[in-house]
Amino acid sequence: MTVEPLVLGALERTTETDVIIIGGGATGAGLARDCSRRGIKCVLFERGDLATGATGRNHGLLHSGARYAVTDRDSAKECIEENYILRKIARHCVDETDGLFITLPEDDLEYQKNFIKACQDAGIAAEALEPKDAKELEPSANPSLIGAVKVPDGVIDPFRLTVANMLDAVKHGAKCYTYHEVMAILKEGARVVGVRVLDKLSKEEYEVRAQVVVNASGIWGTLIGSLAGVDIKMFPTRGTLLIMGHRINQLVINRCRKPADADILVPGDTVCLIGTTSIPIKFSQLDTTRVSYQEVELLITEGAKLCPKLTTARKIRCYAGSRPLVADEADTTGRKTSRHLVLMDHEKRDGLSGFITITGGKLITYRLMAEKATDLICEKLKLKVPCDTATAVLPGSGESPDKILRKVAPLAPTVRAAIVSRHGDLAPLVESDTPSASSLVCECELVSVGEIKHAIESLAVHNLVDLRRRVRIGMGPCQGELCVGRATGLMTAAKLCTPDKAPGELASFLEERWKGIYPLNWGETIRESEFVMWLYQSICGLTRADSPNPAPPEHLEDEAPTESP
Ligand SMILES: Cc1cc2nc3c(=O)[nH]c(=O)nc-3n(C[C@H](O)[C@H](O)[C@H](O)COP(=O)(O)OP(=O)(O)OC[C@H]3O[C@@H](n4cnc5c(N)ncnc54)[C@H](O)[C@@H]3O)c2cc1C
Repeated sequence: MTVEPLVLGALERTTETDVIIIGGGATGAGLARDCSRRGIKCVLFERGDLATGATGRNHGLLHSGARYAVTDRDSAKECIEENYILRKIARHCVDETDGLFITLPEDDLEYQKNFIKACQDAGIAAEALEPKDAKELEPSANPSLIGAVKVPDGVIDPFRLTVANMLDAVKHGAKCYTYHEVMAILKEGARVVGVRVLDKLSKEEYEVRAQVVVNASGIWGTLIGSLAGVDIKMFPTRGTLLIMGHRINQLVINRCRKPADADILVPGDTVCLIGTTSIPIKFSQLDTTRVSYQEVELLITEGAKLCPKLTTARKIRCYAGSRPLVADEADTTGRKTSRHLVLMDHEKRDGLSGFITITGGKLITYRLMAEKATDLICEKLKLKVPCDTATAVLPGSGESPDKILRKVAPLAPTVRAAIVSRHGDLAPLVESDTPSASSLVCECELVSVGEIKHAIESLAVHNLVDLRRRVRIGMGPCQGELCVGRATGLMTAAKLCTPDKAPGELASFLEERWKGIYPLNWGETIRESEFVMWLYQSICGLTRADSPNPAPPEHLEDEAPTESP
């Protein structure tokens, strides 16, 4: 079995292609996959790493659509259809947990009846449970619940999903350039003919021409639109999520009411997370979203109503992302804006040919978004090739985990299971038959030396943070206490960084983690971060000056919480 490596940004450049895709989130990667599988030459430019936008900053909820059934039927239907497709084509990215929508004494039990009816109308299986059965099924749910409905919610790993799509795209001829920012859209009269990109690693700019340019840049779609001279009204809202130090719940727990703050608790790998808030922000704040203590308090207080254990569970980190909502200025929170996908043919809309925008939607509808956009591209290129992405299985999802486990036999059972869950049927590519390759780098997430080498060699890794997205290093309960130092050694051995740059690389990673830790730095969390600081400062001699991008000190101005929530 062979896996094509993702093309690293600094390798050979393309100057001409059929389609340019701007944005390496799930939508852009799905689009690259769909185009290349239909024989269309395409190039994807992502200004950072893959999945650094909303794709890497969400709950990872494989929506059944139930959340939108009452308020947004079209989105609910899209979700349930894509939910079942993703279970088949992306099974190594999906955890089929099921979900519960619980009603608490302060909620209206009548809403549950409307909810079940709306789910059924949208084609979502929704089963009402007796409270005692619900508590038996999910013992961590609030024991005072008065009603519960089971739905086919699940969990999806957005990093794995995006990489799997990109691997398939590259296998079918697409080119992927991460750390390439589109700086200008090239136009000739009323036609878009290409883009000017900045290679952020070599600091060089160059032009690439194409017949169609697709804006798949999520919430940044407005800014890309303005580069082309078209007005795309979007509405940035920040959603904040909080991660607990262990996996408390096995099923997704939702509140059975209209979507509101902190009403989804999602289990994921070794942890679980509660979200989210919905706060309007400015476009200028998109790249500097910081989380306030108040948001963290709100997530804990509201989250504990779903699952009381959240109050005492160790919190390890928070993060925030901005949804790609197409604007409805009357909606001040973003809660009422439809999650339906939006496809804009700028030739019809603005008289500008060769330019398409695909945005809105959800992570779970990325494939459908890609299909609709590729259908339009085919129309423009006068091609008639059907889409096969709803049935063609993604790299990694071909064989069942049981069969794959036998192929990585030399590893310890728990490490084997972790590697198979991350790479699916590509796990045999991870070197595992020597003592050094099978030794552990990250104890929390069970990442081996062999797995890190595989990611460095094949999965377009440029730095430690990219590595974290590929193999979950530093994502577990200790947030990179020992593993990151070891991983830096492996990156240096692979010549991805030089020994003199290694301290800066390490410091950058820790700064990145710190941004998500400081808003909740009390109790157990402060003890853990003190220990990490002691370890890296006292033993490794790292100083703040080693970090090329120290976190801004602005948080010092925030009001600290008066007591530990
Ligand atoms: C808090 C929160 C929770 C959510 N929860 C869920 C959930 O549980 N389930 C679900 O299905 N959906 C969820 N969503 C929605 C989901 O995350 C998004 O709909 C989806 O990830 C959007 O993917 P995308 O590829 O369209 O956009 P993005 O992932 O944002 O990708 C756009 C990319 O474009 C890149 N880019 C921008 N400008 C340029 C440029 N000039 N040059 C090159 N690249 C550029 C960005 O760096 C970015 O990587 C949630 C969203 C948020 C914010």
